[in-house]
Amino acid sequence: MQQKISIKITPSEAASNSIITAYIAAHLSINENQVTGFYKIKESIDARSRHQIWINITLQVFIDEPFITRQVEQVILRNVNHNSKSVIIIGAGPAGLFAALKLLELGIKPIVLERGKNVRDRRRDLAKLNKEGIVNPESNYCFGEGGAGTYSDGKLYTRSNKRGNIDRILNLFVQFGADEKILYQAHPHIGTNKLPNIIAAMRDAIIAYGGEVIFEEKVIDFVVKQNEIESVITSKGNNYKATSIILATGHSARDIFKLLHHKNILIEAKPFALGVRIEHPQNIIDECQYHLNPIATKNVGRGDYLPAASYSLVEQVNRRGVFSFCMCPGGIIAAAATDTNELVVNGWSPSKRNNPYANSGMVVTVELKNVLTKEITANPLALLEFQKNVEQKAYTAGGGNLVAPALRMVDFCEGKISTNLPNCSYIPGVTSANLKTVLPSFIHQALQQGLKTFGKKMKGYYTNEAIVVATESRTSSPVRIPRNADNLQHPQITNLYPCAEGAGYAGGIVSAAMDGERVAEMIVAHF
Ligand SMILES: Cc1cc2nc3c(=O)[nH]c(=O)nc-3n(C[C@H](O)[C@H](O)[C@H](O)COP(=O)(O)OP(=O)(O)OC[C@H]3O[C@@H](n4cnc5c(N)ncnc54)[C@H](O)[C@@H]3O)c2cc1C
Repeated sequence: MQQKISIKITPSEAASNSIITAYIAAHLSINENQVTGFYKIKESIDARSRHQIWINITLQVFIDEPFITRQVEQVILRNVNHNSKSVIIIGAGPAGLFAALKLLELGIKPIVLERGKNVRDRRRDLAKLNKEGIVNPESNYCFGEGGAGTYSDGKLYTRSNKRGNIDRILNLFVQFGADEKILYQAHPHIGTNKLPNIIAAMRDAIIAYGGEVIFEEKVIDFVVKQNEIESVITSKGNNYKATSIILATGHSARDIFKLLHHKNILIEAKPFALGVRIEHPQNIIDECQYHLNPIATKNVGRGDYLPAASYSLVEQVNRRGVFSFCMCPGGIIAAAATDTNELVVNGWSPSKRNNPYANSGMVVTVELKNVLTKEITANPLALLEFQKNVEQKAYTAGGGNLVAPALRMVDFCEGKISTNLPNCSYIPGVTSANLKTVLPSFIHQALQQGLKTFGKKMKGYYTNEAIVVATESRTSSPVRIPRNADNLQHPQITNLYPCAEGAGYAGGIVSAAMDGERVAEMIVAHF
């Protein structure tokens, strides 16, 4: 017999299978030896009580019958060859890779063109970026195999509630090497150390089944005849003809937005969010979220059984949203610029989330009406120019080489310049600087007020031990590439399929992957 049961146990109990078995037996009023095995269906932490933290687990339990381990649904790919119909995919981020896998599942040949390098070679450029402060505009934290998702935290949660589609994406990650725990944890994540191998396994499968993945192949032009896309041209002068093109170039491909605008292909300004990255010592966030007594837990911290704590904060300040974004417990602040003379920060963490810092974006919504000035008039690239301008000011304020301008949190909120800064995980380094000269005043003020309010919501959060680092600006695309709701094609250009984050239809790894699959399915339906 099999039964689904839910139990609520302490973190140390949750780490022991024999204790879980004892709970199952007690719950079902049976002997422990009747339990032949179990696997987890759901697991979440409940830290609401000040006295005890609980782990809620839903289990599939096998009683008096042979135990069968979790069956992870496998996607079957089909072999394709040069006679097969093909689709060009621009960009090997989550959207492009999952679109390619979906096409192979449906028997269509994907040809993926990626401006950046494969994960291994890309790693060298990241090392250079961190050590020497030199950004390679074609190979960085946003560009290269796996896109912006490869050297990320690999958080796999999404606001989408399409459970079936989300489960499919998570299953595919497991099929290509991710730990099965992402299938049952409430807030799954993979970690920067594990993502590159998973991405490389996806690429190997695409090639093994007859698809193509071509690196350092940057698309620089579209050939359009009678409002139909015919081919794309790359910086090496190659011309790829195609019946359908998936444009999955991400939110940082500014040259693609500019190219579309230049060719009078419709794009629109899209609201996005901009702000700073906040970093606390991880133990402060653990103390806040797990209600730890700092004196009693001085040497042991959160202990061996709880993960580094995270948070999610949101507040309306003067009718403007201020919210935390992409929180990385036990993480590192990353230098995510894609061009020289720009300073952009983001965050990542290893699978164990065991760095001593907790960082999170803290951003303010930006709409077109907020940025219109004499210099910036209403054009579809207005928000992009605004974004770039702030990034360049941040670069200058840091003094170059990707050193980031920063302040202690309370100093930032009280308009003071910090005389010194706390240790910070950001590898190129931080320098105390007046962030008023970097951030537009409406963002600066909203952040000052928002952080004070968050300090009241989360006791201990508002502290000068935390550092505010500028600037978190690549939260989502400041441009939308429109598409028809019924066939997902650009309204003016037949067979051009704007896809995922860069086009404004996704935010994050899972939703980008889901959009890639959706577009691929739509193309095949049209064939
Ligand atoms: C440091 C960091 C941490 C992050 N952490 C998380 C996280 O934990 N969880 C999460 O859900 N999201 C995270 N994100 C965001 C997430 O990575 C993106 O939402 C996601 O990757 C978007 O997928 P995409 O396929 O739409 O675009 P992208 O991942 O941006 O991929 C676009 C690809 O297109 C390529 N490209 C661009 N222009 C061209 C061209 N002209 N020719 C050929 N190729 C081109 C780029 O090189 C890139 O590889 C993080 C992002 C960063 C930078």
